[in-house]
Amino acid sequence: MGEIISKETQLIVHHSESDLDLNTQKLIKRAKEAASNAYAKYSDFLVGAALLLDDGTVVIGNNQENACYPAGLCAERVAFFAAKSQYPNALIEKVAVVARRRQDEHFNGAAPCGSCRQVMAEYEENQGKAIELYLLTAEGKVYQSESIENLLPFKFSESVLNGK
Ligand SMILES: [Zn+2]
Repeated sequence: MGEIISKETQLIVHHSESDLDLNTQKLIKRAKEAASNAYAKYSDFLVGAALLLDDGTVVIGNNQENACYPAGLCAERVAFFAAKSQYPNALIEKVAVVARRRQDEHFNGAAPCGSCRQVMAEYEENQGKAIELYLLTAEGKVYQSESIENLLPFKFSESVLNGK
């Protein structure tokens, strides 16, 4: 019988947004605003992401779809790529991700897909500092992850490529 070596994902639950510090509440608000501007004409599923950098700058992203479906990109990667292209040396401290259906004002929450976790995890590893992640849930609660690695244990990384 083998030994279990992988950690279980741990999430902190906050019962409402108002339980969070003001900066995080503002970040979630920016993510909601970003979601409203998503280019999501095919899915009508609006996703917004907002990143807080260490100098206080907020960078937003939303999902960008395309008639050629695979050419589109998720909100999280739009936000992370925008942040790392404009502020390559900044540390990313937090990311908030929210989602709702277009016809529904109520945010119902969505966890980042595997590709976004992979991208976020590499930037987190590069900066040597955990990125906190906040997700709204359908019940109006907020899930907090202390890091991206927590959402993607045993990830593919550069060390696998170069053997170091
Ligand atoms: Zn994604």
